[in-house]
Amino acid sequence: MNSTIELENRYCAHNYHPLPVVLVRGEGVHVWDDEGNKYLDMMSAYSAVSHGHANPRLVKVLSAQAATLSIVSRAFHTDKLVHFLKRACELTGQDMALPMNTGSEAVETALKAARKWAYEVKGVARDRAEIIACEGNFHGRTIAIVSLSSDPAYQEGFGPFSGGMRTIPYGDPAALAAAINENTAAFLVEPIQGEGGINIPPDGYLRQCAEICRAQNVLLICDEVQTGLGRTGKLLACEHDDVKPDGLILGKALGGGILPVSLFLAKREVMEVFQAGTHGSTFGGNPLAAAVGLEALNILVEEKLVERSRDMGAYFLGLLQTIKSPLVNELRGKGLFIGMEIDPALATAREVCERLMKKGLLSKETHETVVRFAPPLIVTREQLAWASDQIRDVLAAMDRIAKAS
Ligand SMILES: *Cc1c(COP(=O)(O)O)cnc(C)c1O
Repeated sequence: MNSTIELENRYCAHNYHPLPVVLVRGEGVHVWDDEGNKYLDMMSAYSAVSHGHANPRLVKVLSAQAATLSIVSRAFHTDKLVHFLKRACELTGQDMALPMNTGSEAVETALKAARKWAYEVKGVARDRAEIIACEGNFHGRTIAIVSLSSDPAYQEGFGPFSGGMRTIPYGDPAALAAAINENTAAFLVEPIQGEGGINIPPDGYLRQCAEICRAQNVLLICDEVQTGLGRTGKLLACEHDDVKPDGLILGKALGGGILPVSLFLAKREVMEVFQAGTHGSTFGGNPLAAAVGLEALNILVEEKLVERSRDMGAYFLGLLQTIKSPLVNELRGKGLFIGMEIDPALATAREVCERLMKKGLLSKETHETVVRFAPPLIVTREQLAWASDQIRDVLAAMDRIAKAS
């Protein structure tokens, strides 16, 4: 075995099961391993690398800002933060933003905001506020967030969990209506479930949820850490349903594939529950992150990456649909956010990913059965055509093996 992998197995916690490849360099949509092999990255670090690896505009801003001022904490104002937040609010139609680093931290921020709003604005009795989320969700890994999870792997051994949390079936507005009571603070939902397997709810689902929430004085909070910033062919996935949520969570691609940068954005009435000292983060909103985050947003708009995602995603999905393989149960996607469901009786998604890797295409399974295709949004038609040829070859080879055995 590769000695780097052996050493990593010895010193690094085994909380991931990476494909057996050691990456040393990235540029645009490509990465290279320690033997010089080149791969098309169709994983993009769970959609964090939408701008491509080592995006030159981002690297330039990063190095200039690193040489000027990186971290001062929010004990002081800086000249960078407001420009980033103003742009993020304008683009998303939200009033105010609270900067954090990882997606999980921004989700935690949203949960805290929702509870405080429930007590101070809605008038819920002390310590009774409830949050509703969906089965199959992925909102992160903290204790409070896994309290909302329906996946045993995320919860087993980590209890006791936070109270005031419940889950309902995804894609079912009637279940939301039935679950809401006088103590409900917020409904937290992914417009498309990413880690859950690229699960796309029925058309109009989010719009119906928004109407139910508005009628019941419940906050609708969209977790767009993965679906946001162009991934699904709109700037925000909730725009597919013309929904403007009361709270919005962004992360991953917001850091341009260079830094962890996340935001909780909301309307003023929600964000104003935070007063000095009630919530914070040492690194959140630092000038380095703010400069990179602002440039990441500017690139999305100026280089029309959202429209690219829509057009390239439709093109790629069309190519994949022409592959007729008994191994594929279903293909689903919006923009460059595509899931290929593998028939578990015939193969595992992991096996498909391992074979694609040998062909120079990197992806990763989510759950046992789904292969995810989510390349950087700068990917070209030619690169996607090449990828679809590799996928076709791998599925054909696996089908031959399955038939022979
Ligand atoms: C990845 C993800 C998170 C967590 O983000 P981290 O940066 O890993 O903490 C939260 N919500 C969704 C929808 C995600 O995909």
